[in-house]
Amino acid sequence: MDYPSKRTFAIDLNPSMVGQEVTIAGWLEDLRDIGKIGFVSIRDMTGPLQAVVYDDTLSVAKDIPRQSTLIIQGKVQESRAKNAQVEIMVTKLIVVGKAFHPLPIDPTGRIESSLDKRLDSRALDLRNPRVSCIFKTKSIVLQTIRHVLFSKRFIEVHTPKIIGSATEGGANLFSFEYFKRKGYLAQSPQLFKEQLVLGLERVFEIGPYFRAEPSHTGRHLSEFISVDFEAAFLEYYDIMDIVQELISKVIKVLSQECIHDQIFVNGITREDGNIPRISYEQCISELSSIGVKLEFGDDLSDASLKKLGEIYPGFYFILDWPTNLKPFYILEQKQNPEISRSFDLQYGYLELVSGGTREHNPDILRGKILAQGLDPDLFSDHLKTFEWGMPFHSGCGLGLDRLMMVLAGTNNIRETVLYPRDTERLNP
Ligand code: ATP
Ligand code: MG
Repeated sequence: MDYPSKRTFAIDLNPSMVGQEVTIAGWLEDLRDIGKIGFVSIRDMTGPLQAVVYDDTLSVAKDIPRQSTLIIQGKVQESRAKNAQVEIMVTKLIVVGKAFHPLPIDPTGRIESSLDKRLDSRALDLRNPRVSCIFKTKSIVLQTIRHVLFSKRFIEVHTPKIIGSATEGGANLFSFEYFKRKGYLAQSPQLFKEQLVLGLERVFEIGPYFRAEPSHTGRHLSEFISVDFEAAFLEYYDIMDIVQELISKVIKVLSQECIHDQIFVNGITREDGNIPRISYEQCISELSSIGVKLEFGDDLSDASLKKLGEIYPGFYFILDWPTNLKPFYILEQKQNPEISRSFDLQYGYLELVSGGTREHNPDILRGKILAQGLDPDLFSDHLKTFEWGMPFHSGCGLGLDRLMMVLAGTNNIRETVLYPRDTERLNP
């Protein structure tokens, strides 16, 4: 049999097709041999289907190892199976790619494997519908985010990931040899996206960023995807409004979307409600009322964030952080320079977004770089753009893999990244 060019996806099979000849491509999950005929469970990227084999096709099917890739041809007929309206009566069957057993993991999920073993065999792991669903959902989330940002006149850009000097401090950068000089991997697009508002006003970038943090947590990786956006003439509370719209739109789209029968918006209120906005000061006073003593200016440790997550288990913003906790490019409040114009979006203990209004006065910015112990000379390419008529601007960075943790209901970011990179894992 030649490989047919026209195929029908499992999800498109329906009773109006009874009697039609179709071609299906997928992989073999199971065969139930009941004597004269056999029932074959096949799955393709859209879901499962049932096929019936008999005589020659049954004897061929019996010898095919599970997970091998097949193409079948046959007629659509009504099915008596409880989870399918129609099935395929197979007339031709061809094995395209044989699966050699024993396989390292069981992608049907019947035999559970550790996450480490699954990640070692990630390509096969993706045949598990619970796993592939995370990545199909991630793609829909990205599409939704792009749609919302485009509708607000943002344009999508790409800034370099190979950079020549430490962007925001430098402690967490990977460095490497770059044609006899030192190069670094970008930890964020922060400085570039700020420069771009000069000519483009509203930009966003979705890309990988790199942090050489030797962390061993469920929420940090050495490489992660960030959705960064930056806009001229907006304030940090305008950015919070956009973040809120992004989150509620994503949840709305996912609750309408039927990705097989997986429910994705785990434990998240589906209404388009506002996300609570809680000031840093209110956070520390609520924490101190339950015995976690913090002074203004103290960072919220993992333990404090866990406690705060118990008080606010869903999405909430923490805003108006102490200036001393924020990077040099964040602007402070006019009335009180100890408080910055900044916010984080949290989901319980988990930080999802950091954002703020930026300092756009070049002299003050230079002073702040100095005050944080950094060398303004390393920032000269950046600082000069602020002397060319820089508008005031605000923006944020949203950790996409962390948002997926919330949507997939997992505490381990490695579940939401195809090939996670951490201190231990560099392959595959
Ligand atoms: P954290 O305090 O959780 O380490 P951060 O404040 O250092 O995060 P930001 O520099 O504010 O992170 O980055 C913006 C967003 O990017 C974060 O809110 C988070 O969602 C995501 N992010 C940052 N670092 C990582 C990482 N190592 N792995 C995965 N996502 C990350
Ligand atoms: Mg942050």
